[in-house]
Amino acid sequence: APRVRFCPSPTGNPHVGLVRTALFNWAFARHHGGTLVFRIEDTDAARDSEESYDQLLDSMRWLGFDWDEGPEVGGPHAPYRQSQRMDIYKDVAEKLLAGGYAYHCYCTTEELDTRREAARAAGKPSGYDGHCRDLTAEQTAAYEAEGRTSIVRFRMPDEALTFTDLVRGELTFQPENVPDYGIVRANGAPLYTLVNPVDDALMEITHVLRGEDLLSSTPRQIALYKALIELGIAKETPVFGHLPYVMGEGNKKLSKRDPQASLNLYRERGFLPQGLLNYLSLLGWSIAEDRDIFSVEEMVAAFDIKDVNANPARFDLKKCEHINAEHIRMLDVKTFTESCGPWLKAPFAPWAPEAFDAARFEAIAPYAQTRVTVLSDITANVDFLFLDEPVEDEASWAKAMKEGSDALLVTARAKLIESEWNAEALKNAILAAGEEHGLKLGKAQAPVRVAVTGRTIGLPLFESLEILGREKTVARIDAALA
Ligand code: GLU
Repeated sequence: APRVRFCPSPTGNPHVGLVRTALFNWAFARHHGGTLVFRIEDTDAARDSEESYDQLLDSMRWLGFDWDEGPEVGGPHAPYRQSQRMDIYKDVAEKLLAGGYAYHCYCTTEELDTRREAARAAGKPSGYDGHCRDLTAEQTAAYEAEGRTSIVRFRMPDEALTFTDLVRGELTFQPENVPDYGIVRANGAPLYTLVNPVDDALMEITHVLRGEDLLSSTPRQIALYKALIELGIAKETPVFGHLPYVMGEGNKKLSKRDPQASLNLYRERGFLPQGLLNYLSLLGWSIAEDRDIFSVEEMVAAFDIKDVNANPARFDLKKCEHINAEHIRMLDVKTFTESCGPWLKAPFAPWAPEAFDAARFEAIAPYAQTRVTVLSDITANVDFLFLDEPVEDEASWAKAMKEGSDALLVTARAKLIESEWNAEALKNAILAAGEEHGLKLGKAQAPVRVAVTGRTIGLPLFESLEILGREKTVARIDAALA
């Protein structure tokens, strides 16, 4: 059974690109009855943070992902945080050096820059030129005597490297484009280039599914794998599949720093995890032609990495919202009502906590469920029930209150006072009031709606009035007339 991994670095806030990678790995593992390893790549002390680590775990749980090995669940290859595996990397680096797979490189940054410029000027490949590849013992001793420090560099093979990407097919990299590369810093800190494939090897990862931005590191990792196999550290090289870029506004790559990319933003707006995952699954994959709405279970059942498209995917917020709205419609009403919870309280809700009335909310919730796009929309849709006075919205007021509105409101008030208090009767009351003023129902209800809810658009009016009650409805019409 396949073993895949999700191995983010805990820097900054989680973003949608990261979630898409997690989703595809999780779906792949679950589809094939495989294992998902969750590993934390926190070897960059300057950029990693504990807060970001906590957020990552919290986000993964919120999205509904589970993992078979990793933080909180442990597993046979623990620890799963790279910051706790430093001895392992040191040991592997020493073995690579001893076996001649890697070497100490004493070149200074200035020297590298100068030679790179010269190569560029001569129209030659400008990557590392192999200067320290085969230093003699004397040369090494001389550099040491000079007090130079060294990094550890991996020796790339001199021939072209070909592999079959699960998404992009056969790819070939020429040696001049993949020069020898650093794996340990001068201060002894191991780099991503080393720790990522070493852990993939030790954790027996069979399939590496990750973003296209990492494609250039794949030939290096495959070469490193070969060395690890020869050293008896790795069993076999995993297969790779690179997920397409996600493009944002203006057809530019969606960047981590793009506000549209922030997972927290989607959570705060009240996207359902299943709605967001449904949309993100479409970034490079599809379940069937003409089918946009499905559950994660359906995705898992259908997921085949071979169906992933190599072309860049476009992030379309409108479509993401539309899909989320469809998932909100599919909830049973009790789940919907409960899911709205956070947006019925501070800091989202503008009413006093004691003004909230659960029975009223439950009565109105079914009408809201068919209308909101994200759960945070609920607040403005129901605030008229819990605020002392409806929100002040000048634009709505100006739009609905025309000449004759007062007269209509006076008639409507009189009819509402006498009406039975249910939606059907209230509709008839306002219909009758409108008739007296030569207004159709739509025109007659607009001033009533604004007087009672403060807005021109909202949930069905007669049901809203029924739930608000006679006393408050009449008081608000009085206030509008005052
Ligand atoms: N820690 C790396 C990242 O977040 C993992 C890349 C990979 O999947 O190999 O970019």
